[in-house]
Amino acid sequence: MGYDIERFVGYVNEGLLCSICRDVLEDPLQAPCEHAFCTACIHGWLVHHSNCPEDRQVVDVSMLRPLYRYMKNDLNRLQLHCKNREYGCEMVCSLESIDRHERECEYSQIPCSNAGCTVQVERRNLDVHLAVCEYRSRECPNGCGYTILSAEDTQHNCVAELRTELELLRSEMICRVEEAKHEMESRLDSQRRHMVQKESILQNEIEELKSQMSRMMSDVRSLMAAERQHRQELEQAELEKRELMELLRGLQKDCRLSTTEGSRKSANFRPLTRLESAKRKPREVTVI
Ligand SMILES: [Zn+2]
Ligand SMILES: [Zn+2]
Ligand SMILES: [Zn+2]
Ligand SMILES: [Zn+2]
Ligand SMILES: [Zn+2]
Repeated sequence: MGYDIERFVGYVNEGLLCSICRDVLEDPLQAPCEHAFCTACIHGWLVHHSNCPEDRQVVDVSMLRPLYRYMKNDLNRLQLHCKNREYGCEMVCSLESIDRHERECEYSQIPCSNAGCTVQVERRNLDVHLAVCEYRSRECPNGCGYTILSAEDTQHNCVAELRTELELLRSEMICRVEEAKHEMESRLDSQRRHMVQKESILQNEIEELKSQMSRMMSDVRSLMAAERQHRQELEQAELEKRELMELLRGLQKDCRLSTTEGSRKSANFRPLTRLESAKRKPREVTVI
């Protein structure tokens, strides 16, 4: 936007003035027609125009070039007052070094460095302000470890501060314990679900084994019954065999008797086995 021409010491060449703001060129650019402008001024102009404001020749942003070196040198050598002259700064220096001075000028307005403070002071008065700033802080002299803002100085109560801190820590701890508890519970829950699943699988296996066992038991029972049956049949057969053997022996004795004592047959009658008697009944009747 240009440097106010009033700030300059001595004569300023017309060619070093901006054609738009009529002040001394700040951050200058020139058009092909050699007219020069502050960068901000010509960019603002070209938003709504496409020509030089001085002679109406066609211009667009891409045609703008840096100022000729000799003009730039002339510009940099111009002497001007610090912008804080009205606040008391007596500094006069070249345009080239004015920015550096103004950044460090003791008369520049700067914000207070305490967080929260909105006061603006001249740099040279910052220390004076900091000494009384409501937002200055210091460590509690009673050793509670708190940093006290000067505005709260009279209300500071170490015990109350520490109690608040303690409450905070306590609630934080309770919170953490709760979290840990929840996590533990959810872990237990999932383990429980897992166990229940496993248990039901095992239960099924047990049922399966039980039914297998009962099938086997019934097989064993029927085998044992068959075995008993078999043994009974064997015993029966043995019995019959013994009877048959007896009968056979009886028959052989009868046979011997009839050959040696044929005449005394009727007198030497001996009891017959059931079988014999059944077979011989008709003859015995005739003998008696
Ligand atoms: Zn300008
Ligand atoms: Zn021009
Ligand atoms: Zn200054
Ligand atoms: Zn302050
Ligand atoms: Zn304290």
